[in-house]
Amino acid sequence: MEHPENDSQYTGLTVNAGVAQPPVVNPYLRRTRRKPIPEAGELVEGILKGDMTMLSRAVTLVESTLPDHYARAQEVIEKCLPSSGRSRRIGITGVPGAGKSTSIDVFGLHVLQDPKAKLAVLAIDPSSEITRGSILGDKTRMEKLSVHPNAFIRPSPSAGSLGGVARKTRETIVLCEAAGFNNIFVETVGVGQSETAVHSMVDFFLLIQLAGTGDELQGIKRGIMEMADGIVINKADGDNVQRAQLAQAQFRSALQLFPPAASGWKPEVLCYSGYFELGITEVWDMIDRYFAFVADNGYFERRRRQQARYWMYETIDEQLKSHFYNDPDIAAMLQRLDREVENNRRSSFIAARDVLNRYFSAKEI
Ligand code: GDP
Repeated sequence: MEHPENDSQYTGLTVNAGVAQPPVVNPYLRRTRRKPIPEAGELVEGILKGDMTMLSRAVTLVESTLPDHYARAQEVIEKCLPSSGRSRRIGITGVPGAGKSTSIDVFGLHVLQDPKAKLAVLAIDPSSEITRGSILGDKTRMEKLSVHPNAFIRPSPSAGSLGGVARKTRETIVLCEAAGFNNIFVETVGVGQSETAVHSMVDFFLLIQLAGTGDELQGIKRGIMEMADGIVINKADGDNVQRAQLAQAQFRSALQLFPPAASGWKPEVLCYSGYFELGITEVWDMIDRYFAFVADNGYFERRRRQQARYWMYETIDEQLKSHFYNDPDIAAMLQRLDREVENNRRSSFIAARDVLNRYFSAKEI
């Protein structure tokens, strides 16, 4: 018997008259022309006066990938450098959900109780390139700080490799300091290489942890714990207080096993609640103690000088790489070689040698 659905009345293929497709470009869109970024001299003058708009525009310049912008950004940085350095740079890390933004909001307000304090919150989020739009440093996540007149919040630069993103943040620190920001927070997600980058540009590294799973020490990379100058256990409120205290004891004993830090400082472990604003003063007292300690024993200065050298080499590495990979000739050759190597038609080493030879021989001409 013929299946009833084969009857022509059931076919779904009849085409109904539709509506005309809208045009690809919205004809009602009114384009607002962006003002061109001012010249280096004007930017520097504005920054040194503490003009936030000029600071913002200079940071845009630093983040830009246009070669002309790069040169101008470097000029601005060079001129701001003598007025930079006078700040406390604090790195803040923790896994997503640890409470970084909630905590930065309250830590920030705590710092800004001093009318002379100015705070810049920057971020390093290498994943933002993939997720489009940064997860970190987002204004909406720090409700109170974002409307504070003495706070400047800037999301993570999104373009480029981790090295590139980190360099831009490091350069932004210089600009912020020249604009009079005497407290800098650099936030990052505690899940990868970005902590090392943050660690190498801050004076104090704060690790935000959570308690409550009973296996707190698992899943935390030893390297990250070793970098921490302070470990703070967030969400020590309500039912969670005891678990937080247990985690505190576990962290304290785990830290005993680590070799002493170069600063001579013994990392402290504290509990607090960002959401209920409990224990914030204690966390900040610890940070104050650290700064007094390293100012006293000379480590503060020594480390800043080491970091300056580190960033010189990092910048060289990054620029060499980007010069190489952005060369159109090299990019085309790599595309071809990539396939050949993948299909086992050429060895990785020979392919690398060929492409490098091509690069260096072109440089000699
Ligand atoms: P981030 O991803 O590290 O920036 O974390 P968020 O600051 O966005 O916080 C993640 C979630 O934890 C949010 O729902 C916060 O409301 C909550 N949270 C943050 N701090 C605390 C705290 O001290 N106590 C409690 N109970 N919840 C908190």
